[in-house]
Amino acid sequence: MFTHPLRQPCSYQQLTEGVFFARVHPKPLETPRLAHFNARLGDRFGLTETDFSGDAFVDVLAGRKPLPAPVEPLATAYSGHQFGGFNPGLGDGRAMLLGEFSDREGTPWEFQLKGSGPTPYSRGFDGRAVLRSVIREYLACEAVDALGIATTRALCVVASDTQVIREIPEPGAMMIRVARSHLRFGSFEHFYARRQTGHLQQLADYCINRFYPQFKASRTPYRDWFETVVRDTAQLIAQWQAMGFCHGVMNTDNFSILGLTFDYGPYGFLERYDPRHICNHSDTEGRYAFERQPRMALWNCYCLAQSLTPLIARDSLQAALDQFESTLQAGYLARMRRRLGLTREREDDGELLSALLNLLERQQLDYHRFLRGLCHFAGGEARHPWLYERGDREAIDHWLNRYAARLALEPNPGRAAAMGRENPKFVLRNYLAQEVIEAAQEGDYAPLDTLLKILQAPFEEHRLHDRWCEPAPDWASGLSVSCSS
Ligand code: AMP
Ligand code: MG
Repeated sequence: MFTHPLRQPCSYQQLTEGVFFARVHPKPLETPRLAHFNARLGDRFGLTETDFSGDAFVDVLAGRKPLPAPVEPLATAYSGHQFGGFNPGLGDGRAMLLGEFSDREGTPWEFQLKGSGPTPYSRGFDGRAVLRSVIREYLACEAVDALGIATTRALCVVASDTQVIREIPEPGAMMIRVARSHLRFGSFEHFYARRQTGHLQQLADYCINRFYPQFKASRTPYRDWFETVVRDTAQLIAQWQAMGFCHGVMNTDNFSILGLTFDYGPYGFLERYDPRHICNHSDTEGRYAFERQPRMALWNCYCLAQSLTPLIARDSLQAALDQFESTLQAGYLARMRRRLGLTREREDDGELLSALLNLLERQQLDYHRFLRGLCHFAGGEARHPWLYERGDREAIDHWLNRYAARLALEPNPGRAAAMGRENPKFVLRNYLAQEVIEAAQEGDYAPLDTLLKILQAPFEEHRLHDRWCEPAPDWASGLSVSCSS
């Protein structure tokens, strides 16, 4: 893959070395081996498993061969607000950009190696990622993408015999992450905090030239760009809220400038509907609880706005920020209407939806199974058992009757099928990830392969794998995920 004809150097290296990035080298792993390759994503680049399973790749990661000459990996500098406090010195502490690859349409994407050893930004940490966290990120990227939510992607997992110390020793691993850009809100905060306005402007220019060429000719390119960032972020969070995704560590260094779901740590999908759900065991205050995600994303946009004050007038920044809530609300309602099979907008739809969320919360119903069950209901079939798995039948029927009356206002013979493409049968429940991780730690990657393929097509029936859409079994009720990765 290092010698692939579509590989180009990182465009990021046109910025100044030592300021924006540092040149780095991967630290070898013991007995690295390709554990999984995401063929679906690889195909987009004309890459196949053999590009990664062969010696050229593995020998480099094992330190047996140097990187082929033109490949000069780099780690980028950034800062960020972590749980509300500013940390001025972060950066890629365990990841490096390897280069860019163009997809079949000619669009260049950054390939980043994560878990590749220490860099000048490691702050004394080991620069490693454990197999557990790599698999969690790998699965999540593909699950989130399949739900139509913008995200970074994951191309492959490399396992090894290197032991990495966390709470206990764990096997170390690497993955290749793929994104148009890995720029974060914190990349811009970095130069604002250092009062390096020239560098801040260079970075904004790089970003606009590369990703927002439509604004180059504008009289107000920075303002137009910031408006887009706010809009894309609001749209992203609208999708998270509608699809029940909880990020867990919404620090500004984990917020993509392109509005991608980024840096998966202790994330989780809602299972029983609980707006106060905190997926990150380390988040003791619930700063990033599910229902707080919209507020926290807006807070992050304010941090970005502050760091752009040298480039954009304050009233323009405020005007863009003022659009956040309405964009998010409209995006959320639009997606939820689709989940409910409603094609026309009616004023009382918001109320119907609130009543549904109240019901789900009070009766502790499974968010995704209930909505999947509704697809059948909308098809006029007998009421699906998933609608009555828990809770009070009378309360559930009360809402269903209201819903039936709403559906009657817009008869639609294709509704059940359309809803089946909006409401996944399979979601990445924590216990599923855990099962797959435990098998992988024993050297068995077949369950990872199966789960990945299901999550890449979560709306299909996959009848042979019905077990994978079950709610969490009892053993998983105490499962917790933390920042440790
Ligand atoms: P994360 O929680 O993965 O978003 O990481 C936050 C910051 O800590 C980033 O700058 C990471 O590069 C850095 N970091 C996290 N874990 C490690 C590690 N094991 N070694 C070096 N840096 C790390
Ligand atoms: Mg991060």
